[in-house]
Amino acid sequence: MRDAHDINIREDAAATLTRSLASQGKFYEAFNIAQESIRRLPQITQDKVRFHVLETLSQILIDASEPKLALKYIDLWEKELPANASHCHIFFNKILAQQRLKSLSPDSDLFQKTITQCKKSGINVLANNALIQKASLYNGTGQPDRAIKLMTDAKAAIMKGGYKVQNIWRDYIIAYALFLKKDYSSSKRYVKYAMKSAIAANDSSSMRYVFWLFYKLSKATGDTPSALAYLEKYNRQNDKYKTDIKNTLIAYQRVKLDVLQNQMRLKSLAKKNQLLTLQQQLNHKKTETRRLQFILLSVVVGFLCLWLFRVHHSQRRFRHLARHDGLTGLMNHQHFMAECERVLNRLKRSGSHASLVLMDLDHFKQVNDRHGHATGDEVLRQATALCRQMLRGEDLFGRLGGEEFGMLLPGCTCEQGVDIANRIRLALADTPVRAFEDHAEVSISASFGLACTDQSGYDMNQLCNDADTALYRAKWGGRNRLIVADAPAAHPGKNERTMDADA
Ligand code: GH3
Ligand code: MG
Ligand code: MG
Repeated sequence: MRDAHDINIREDAAATLTRSLASQGKFYEAFNIAQESIRRLPQITQDKVRFHVLETLSQILIDASEPKLALKYIDLWEKELPANASHCHIFFNKILAQQRLKSLSPDSDLFQKTITQCKKSGINVLANNALIQKASLYNGTGQPDRAIKLMTDAKAAIMKGGYKVQNIWRDYIIAYALFLKKDYSSSKRYVKYAMKSAIAANDSSSMRYVFWLFYKLSKATGDTPSALAYLEKYNRQNDKYKTDIKNTLIAYQRVKLDVLQNQMRLKSLAKKNQLLTLQQQLNHKKTETRRLQFILLSVVVGFLCLWLFRVHHSQRRFRHLARHDGLTGLMNHQHFMAECERVLNRLKRSGSHASLVLMDLDHFKQVNDRHGHATGDEVLRQATALCRQMLRGEDLFGRLGGEEFGMLLPGCTCEQGVDIANRIRLALADTPVRAFEDHAEVSISASFGLACTDQSGYDMNQLCNDADTALYRAKWGGRNRLIVADAPAAHPGKNERTMDADA
């Protein structure tokens, strides 16, 4: 059984071993193997082996006083057995199981079917056994005459079968039937035959019944001492029988408990396993959710950053647009003034100089008039670009209106301011601009007014006024020249120096 790799061979051997163990009274071991066979039953493919296992199971379950369960396997066995195969064993086991259930009548056709099948297959011992069972049921249902007739008729067959135990039973059944018929002397004769045969066959299990009938007979005939003696003998036999039965039942229950425990252990393992799987799934879901959350968060943060960047960018653009001039890109009037004030405040604290230069293009109206407004715009662009080239990084340059511009030169004394302004003035006068429409060369010039912190102080309005006055003077003095405001504008006229092209 251990070495067999083929399940059919293994289970065939297991069934044989089960029967062998049961016949030795080792029911615990027998039930254990039977239990395994029940488990493996679906895997057994060979019919012969399946029938062997099913028969073994039904027999051992009848022994374990589980006739209902036994009938279940008998039914399965009957269903699988081909119609032309012998049904002797099936029918006989059915008789045994139904008898245990006390649901069998002696007139049931199961007896005749069993006897016919068993005789047909040459299993006379079971055919005779069926007759014995039937007769015993006749006794049990108060029909002793029928029992006697059946057993008398069966005499030859039972003798021919050669099973000593069957002879004991035949005599016992007749004895019992005669007892029921109150024919005590004949009954005694038959029970004596039975006892003789039982002693000869060393069959202690039959002795129990024999003693019991002896006791009943002695009691019925008023032989009290004999009755007592037989009752004692019967009791001794009965105790042994009961112990055997009890041991069988206990063995069966132990195996059932073992199986139950095993199943519960397996169930709890399966539950644990299920829990673990669930836990794993949960963890997986959690990680997935976290990843999704992270992705979602990243997307949100990304969009937020992009939005902030856009807002910031457009804010900067609007601020630039609000602070600068569209045509030249220079600071507009308001922004230029504010920036100048900021720088002047700083310079004032550090005691540094600065010069403010105001510049106005000369006769610009004529440029527009002669060459068109587009050329005028181009002149504005090129003139301011030229100025920017000549200014330093820290200088402030703004468009104050029309063709008038302001330049704040931090760190420049009057002289340095004059130098820068003059260079710008000369460069403008030397650089004609090509007209858009007639492609003529447009010569330009500009007039400059300069005020410096040394003279006018750090107040932007004051500086502006002084420079403006100087510019006005430059225009008045003939244009294309630079006038420096000498003193605060409170005394205009006296405080300007003319530094024109010729100066
Ligand atoms: P002056 O030498 O006395 O400064 O004479 P002017 O013609 O330059 O001065 P005026 O103030 O009489 O004219 C300024 C002209 O500048 C008037 C206006 O048409 C023109 N102007 C102002 N802003 C712009 C501009 O953005 N584009 C163009 N093409 N022309 C402008
Ligand atoms: Mg002008
Ligand atoms: Mg002007």
